[in-house]
Amino acid sequence: MKKKIIITGGLGYIGTELCKLYSGVSWHHDIKVIDNRFISERVNQLRNWNMEFIQGDILNKDLVKKYCSDADVVHHLAGVTKVPRTKTEASKEQDEKIKEVGVKGTQNVLDAINKKCKIIFPSTHVVYEGINEVRTDIKEDDVTKPVLSYSSSKALNEDQLKKSGKNYIILRLGSVYGYSTDSMRIDIMPNLFSKIASQNGTLKLFAGGRQIKSLVPLIDVARCFKFMEEKNEITSEIFNLTKDTLSVKEVAQVCKKHNPQITLKETNDEVPNLGFSLSNKKLLNTGFEFLYNLDQNIKEMIEKWSKQTIKNDLEYVKDGENLFKDERGTISNHELTEPINLIGLIDSKKGTIRANHYHPQQEQKCLFTKGQIIEIFQDIINPNSPKITQVVNAGQLSVIKPNVAHTMVFTKDTTFLNLVRGERDHENYGITHTIKHVFVDEKEKNLLLENYKFDCRSCGNFNLKRVVSLGYQPLANNLLNKKEEKCELYPLEVNYCDKCHNCQLSVSVNPKKMFSTYLYTSSTSKIFREHFVEAAKKHSKELKLNKKKSYIIDIGSNDGVALKPFLDLGFKKVLGIEPAKNLAKLANKNKIKTFNGFLEKKNLKKIKKNADLILASNVFAHSDKLKEMAECMLSLLSKKGTIIIEVQYLMNTLKDLTFDNIYHEHYNYWSLTSLINFFNQFDAKIYKSERVDTHGGSIRVYIKKDKKVKIDASVKKMLQEEDSFGIKKYETYKKFGEKVYEMRKNVLLNIKKLKSQNKKIIGFGAPAKATTALNFFGIKDEIDFVVEDNKLKHKKFIPGVKIPIKSKSEIKNKDNILLVLAWNFYESIKENNSNLSNKFVNIKNLETNNLK
Ligand SMILES: [Zn+2]
Repeated sequence: MKKKIIITGGLGYIGTELCKLYSGVSWHHDIKVIDNRFISERVNQLRNWNMEFIQGDILNKDLVKKYCSDADVVHHLAGVTKVPRTKTEASKEQDEKIKEVGVKGTQNVLDAINKKCKIIFPSTHVVYEGINEVRTDIKEDDVTKPVLSYSSSKALNEDQLKKSGKNYIILRLGSVYGYSTDSMRIDIMPNLFSKIASQNGTLKLFAGGRQIKSLVPLIDVARCFKFMEEKNEITSEIFNLTKDTLSVKEVAQVCKKHNPQITLKETNDEVPNLGFSLSNKKLLNTGFEFLYNLDQNIKEMIEKWSKQTIKNDLEYVKDGENLFKDERGTISNHELTEPINLIGLIDSKKGTIRANHYHPQQEQKCLFTKGQIIEIFQDIINPNSPKITQVVNAGQLSVIKPNVAHTMVFTKDTTFLNLVRGERDHENYGITHTIKHVFVDEKEKNLLLENYKFDCRSCGNFNLKRVVSLGYQPLANNLLNKKEEKCELYPLEVNYCDKCHNCQLSVSVNPKKMFSTYLYTSSTSKIFREHFVEAAKKHSKELKLNKKKSYIIDIGSNDGVALKPFLDLGFKKVLGIEPAKNLAKLANKNKIKTFNGFLEKKNLKKIKKNADLILASNVFAHSDKLKEMAECMLSLLSKKGTIIIEVQYLMNTLKDLTFDNIYHEHYNYWSLTSLINFFNQFDAKIYKSERVDTHGGSIRVYIKKDKKVKIDASVKKMLQEEDSFGIKKYETYKKFGEKVYEMRKNVLLNIKKLKSQNKKIIGFGAPAKATTALNFFGIKDEIDFVVEDNKLKHKKFIPGVKIPIKSKSEIKNKDNILLVLAWNFYESIKENNSNLSNKFVNIKNLETNNLK
């Protein structure tokens, strides 16, 4: 049967929820909403739901008559809701207003409706507020005892309805709580507590929170109104509509359960009334069921009002949540930050490019259903912001903040949904929606397609998370011969695999571009020479090597720096493997036998097998084809032989914020945890580990082919250290990234301070880390030139920032600031070069916010 249903006060707290419920049947009934407010978004929503909105006051007798006279049902919700809760809050004016709207308005409705019409009316449990002793089971026909104007008015309304001779339903509501888009209604205790809880505040419990309250969830209240409309057999009745009776303290404890950070503070003052509650037996006997509870509602309110859920990132990519899996497949969910009114379905072919624009006001939200992209983005409000890349896979939602330029490079045939609040304006770039901003061209697109690394080099996982982006950077060791020489820029950023805890770069540059000629000769450094002398003594003793028989291979042997000490000790059989032609030549010239080439399968037959010791120092980070390299090492190793790997230690990088260890030659960043996960894939086992202090902190691990080799206690100890540091938590890596950006800010401020002293700033040392740091900080003209001990680097330029490298003799007087870029040698540089400057500054000190 089609009904004419009127909802007065339909824009209010309960009315809003009731209209939502009726939106399911509004095409079958004639529904009109009367409210004296006009909220355009909500009115528009009502019209879209096929409900008529009438702005008007129920004190207007003619208007009420016009719409109510032929109604079948009136949900009479209109009334003054801003009411005083205590005597001291009350004012005469307010009291009169409450009474006028309450009594006159209700009388207008009662006068207007016909005999058959059902009027459903909300009264309140507060009509019993005058009861002095604690009562927990007040029934519908118990005598009311109102005190304040609100309850007195409601008690009068109850009498009006009962005496009207019309078909009425009175619902005496408990304290109605719950999240609503109408308002927070923080005058209601569970709502107020949830709001305080969402802000990590303190809940004050007067009288120890012993007062009891009859509570009822908002949605169940709205459901009960609709229930009463549908049940024709229920006529002229009064019901208590309450669900739970809880003490204030119990409500506070529910809040604490959902946010343990809040504080509960009890006071011992006496309250005049410890409360009362209404019995809901009569209502439950009608067949009405409550579907919601306090726990869920408080959780929802805390979550929706909590600050913690706001993401500050310029861009983020997330997987679906609340997965539901069964034999048919999977459902995953994405919660959005704002309402969406338009969805673009976009298909893109592999190898193409889209966007190159930004949105001045809207977030860009794209849900990928098929394929994969590389997303490139850059904050355009802060002009020095680095360009950042990110992979987005099918199933993921990508959100980019307004005023962040973005571009998509499609690495597969891809389909995605563009979720828009507003409009999509793709032909004529709009003024408020989409502004063209070309910052990725075809050439860069191709470079990304060629070099991007999508899967974890260690375990193959495709879902990698960004640790830090240092922007687009040149290859750190490829110094320029001429200032204007062009060089390629690649993204320099570290991603994290949360399956095997491996960290690797987002791109893998062709190793031939970096290692074919190599200007870094390890033997130049006294510290390295000494390190390898010590290592040779230690290894030959601990592994009981035989000077005549033992065969030692060094991978990435450079100029032979690690093998020379073995020769000096009297070992006969050593072999270096080195891809850089110039270095291999140099080593062979110095009688250190060296094979020129990469350690890869096609070269294996050219290399003698059965090594007793294979060294791989500062090379295990340098391989794109990691598995191939490991397999080659294992096939060169004798059955009882040992592999010793030395590699920069990720724990030091993360702890000491030595982000400048990151450059394109270092494809991988290792912890013991990730190294073990890597070698567990082979017939090999890490059985011992220790720290060494080269390169600002390295790790040395020992490997045997024997899976059952006895594991040294050092392994367990180091793994525990890593675990408690948080090496298996993405949060640890993300914080590192944030701190690195904080450092960048400090450096830019501090270099300005140094510059204000009106002295030349001269750099000392041009190691790869200097290229990374200077390019990330964006320091160019601030440094006049850089001096270097390594002659091979003289007359060249640091790529990207184009700072010239000169010999020390170019420094003519000591009136300068010598900024030490090779910071790991700061003390020895300062000691050995006191003739060059009166003032030495370590670049590391510029990274703090309290430079002296
Ligand atoms: Zn992995």
